[in-house]
Amino acid sequence: MGTKIDHRLHVFFLPLMAQGHLIPVIDMAKLFSSRGLKSTVATTSHFAPFLSKSLQNDTDSVVVTFKIPSADVGLPEDVEAVHMAKTPDMQNRFFKSCGLLGPRIADILERYRPDFLVADMFFTWAPDVAKEFGIPCLVFHGTSYFSLCAGLSVFLHQPYKTVSDDLEPFVIPDLPDEIEFTRSRVADFVKNNDGGVLSTWYKESKAMEERSYGVLMNSFYELEPGYADHYSNFLGRKAWNIGPLFMYEKRTEQRAKRGMEASIDEHECLKWLDSKKPDSVIYVSFGSVANFDDNQLMELAAGLEASGREFIWVVKKEKREGVREDWLPQGFEERIQGKGLIIRGWAPQVTILEHDAIGGFVTHCGWNSTLESVCAGVPMVTWPVSAEQFFNEKLVTKLLRIGVEVGAKKWRRLLGDFVKRDAVEKAVRKVMEGEEAEEMRRRVRGFAEMARRAIEEGGSSVLDLDALLEDLRLQCVARDTS
Ligand code: UDP
Repeated sequence: MGTKIDHRLHVFFLPLMAQGHLIPVIDMAKLFSSRGLKSTVATTSHFAPFLSKSLQNDTDSVVVTFKIPSADVGLPEDVEAVHMAKTPDMQNRFFKSCGLLGPRIADILERYRPDFLVADMFFTWAPDVAKEFGIPCLVFHGTSYFSLCAGLSVFLHQPYKTVSDDLEPFVIPDLPDEIEFTRSRVADFVKNNDGGVLSTWYKESKAMEERSYGVLMNSFYELEPGYADHYSNFLGRKAWNIGPLFMYEKRTEQRAKRGMEASIDEHECLKWLDSKKPDSVIYVSFGSVANFDDNQLMELAAGLEASGREFIWVVKKEKREGVREDWLPQGFEERIQGKGLIIRGWAPQVTILEHDAIGGFVTHCGWNSTLESVCAGVPMVTWPVSAEQFFNEKLVTKLLRIGVEVGAKKWRRLLGDFVKRDAVEKAVRKVMEGEEAEEMRRRVRGFAEMARRAIEEGGSSVLDLDALLEDLRLQCVARDTS
């Protein structure tokens, strides 16, 4: 076979079927397209319209759908996304089905014949399928270097076994910094190690990193240099940091658009924010999956009100006319008229965070939200719930010192740990008022500037991206000529 000099690289994306995993893949497809690559993204029919819409103007992308092997795992057929699996048992079945998708994806790869595969860490079989097709498999980790390093250390050394109490602190071993953690903050599927779906997956995902060609990171070197180095040099992983992915889109109004329609008119929202003073409003949102019970929502509302701060609060609750809402304190909505905005459903988060009026973000520390806050120069109140969010909290509060902890202590799969109103009030005040708040704001704005530089020509992320694409082109040429 001759060398295909003008061969246009074709990437096949396989993201987990969850908003927080699809959004950075949309950003990545746009970025790769701006570098002349074409892409195919595979997902369920639930997400296909959302993906097609997000990619239609900016990429030469194809969206292909697959069916989840629901019957094989006893999952209702209409559960096609993580947020639709409402109980731990359903979630287990959902993740189990991810482990069975290999043959279905192999059939699609046979048809599309891409040059490389970018697979979410939930598809631990992906390196083997890629090997069948003789193409490299890259793992996409939508999280921080710090959480990968800390997570691997806790998994390997099991320091939570050395303490006698759930809240007794231990130092996470073998990290560049001394970071304290507790057993209560470690994910159940790590500490129980019970052979269940998630604990098996977690082990396999670590092995997947080793069997793949390398790891793509939605982070930038200057944010966590010690941990980017630790991950590559000490843990021996080949990784490219090419983020923050959403920042490559220079058109601000496009940056926030990744398909989902906001539940509020964006102009209304901006008009509301325009009427507020700089850094005066706190934004409260917990991503696409995390949830709280009515008691907690009530406590949060009371804490926000007591802080005296103006706010935007995103709640996953529909308004039903004439139905009394038990999760809101009596008369709350009347009292907050003009001072607080409740968005029910999906908020235009990036647009909100980038507005001058936003002075703080109460966040669950999902990595996309954390990065979006960093890039907008907004300090955080950290309120982790599950996944790797408790590690991201430590990065934000202890290493970067751009946020304060609200005091959530217990890792919980679906509903967050209970936090009292006084703690909410105190944390909100701390991030919005006084000298410490000003220092955090100065620091986070420094990181925002570094993020902007990382994705400029010659910046650290662009250099890593260039190196990655060059590497993949050489791989492709080598394959074509062999
Ligand atoms: N998001 C949004 N509006 C919402 C909720 C979430 O735009 O009302 C976006 C948010 O900007 C981020 C993503 O959804 O890009 C959530 O990802 P993250 O990693 O923060 O959390 P996850 O949803 O995965 O827990």
